[in-house]
This record gives sequence, C-alpha cells and structure tokens, in this order.
Amino acid sequence: MRLVLLGPPGSGKGTQAVRLAKQLDIPALSTGDMLRAAVSAGTPVGMQVKATMERGELVPDKLVVAIVAERIRRPDARFGFILDGFPRTVAQAEALDDLLQADRLRLDWVLQLKVDEASLLGRILNRATEAMASGNVRADDNEAALRVRLAEYRAQTEPLITYYRAQGILRDVDGLRSMDEVTASLNEALDA
Ligand code: ADP
Repeated sequence: MRLVLLGPPGSGKGTQAVRLAKQLDIPALSTGDMLRAAVSAGTPVGMQVKATMERGELVPDKLVVAIVAERIRRPDARFGFILDGFPRTVAQAEALDDLLQADRLRLDWVLQLKVDEASLLGRILNRATEAMASGNVRADDNEAALRVRLAEYRAQTEPLITYYRAQGILRDVDGLRSMDEVTASLNEALDA
C-alpha cells in the first residue's frame, strides 16, 4: 500500500504515520525527519537547509524530491510506504506521480487529517514544552516559526487537497480526537 498523510503542522501526522506503518508493515517516511537528520549530521544538504527549516519555510522542491526518489526505491519500500510531510507542494505531488508512474506504480490513498487551526499552536507549544524536558526541542517549534509553517501549509500544501480529490484518492479523517481514535478512523478510512 502506498499512502500519503496530509495535514497541517501539529496535526499528528508523524505519530499516526508511525502507527499505521507498524500495522501495515511498511516504512513511514518523514521528510522532516530525514532533513533533520541531515542537519544534525552536518551533511552538505543539512547545511543548505538548516536556516530555512529554522524559519519554518519550505526547502526547495528539487532537493526534497531527490531525497524521496532515492528513498522510495530502497528495498524496504518495495511493497509500500507511508509518506509523512511529502508532498507539500503541487510540484512535489506531480513529481511523485511521475516517479511512481515510471515504475508503473501509483498512490493508493491520501489520508487527510482535518484539524482546526486554533488548536494547532497549543499542540505545538505543548510538544516544545514536553521536548524541553528531554533537551530535544525542534528548532522550529516556536511561535514565530509555527506561524510561518502554517502560512506555508495554507499557501503551498492545501492545494493538494483539490489535486488528490480530483484523482479520487483523498479520504478525510477528523484529527482532533484522541490519538487512538484517530488511528481507528484512519484504519476505517483504509478499509472503507
Ligand atoms: P511539520 O509538519 O510539523 O511542520 P515536518 O517535520 O514535516 O514538520 O517538517 C519540518 C520542516 O522540514 C518544514 O517546515 C520544512 O522546512 C522542511 N520540510 C519537510 N518536508 C518538506 C517538503 N516535502 N518540502 C519542503 N520542505 C520540507
């Protein structure tokens, strides 16, 4: 199964992607995690994207598409994957379609976590407080960067809802309920 999880920052995509991936026995691929790993490791890509990520802006399409192209062709992803945080622009979605088509594959479903914006800031600042305890705060989990991330989501990523609805593969799930309830709804959406 080849899935995309769509939703604004703080919608719980990462948590749910990992849960679904375990159930389906396919890898959860988070471009945010991959980019953060590159930043921590100080690779050339990491050095290129660090400041952009800290501001909450999107990194260039070409760079992320190249990372994803390489990652989804690894052996562990041959039977499927869940993409978390990618695609984030229409150009990325088109590039993904092209990549898959070249291998005669296609996405099965795009699952959208619906959350109202008012609850997002609270969730993210909560995550930052919890992370503080373990000394592991994300550089972009602060109010200023979050506002930029939300604006980027609205401008660049929300158009994907129309893009995938037109393909007939979009399914919506209420992301405001408890983590377990959201997992259950995602499973229902996949079974429906
Ligand atoms: P969130 O969804 O909570 O904002 P992510 O971990 O998915 O967090 O992404 C963190 C940052 O990584 C983004 O703000 C952006 O700078 C960069 N990033 C991740 N995925 C992409 C992508 N597909 N395209 C462009 N930038 C990305």
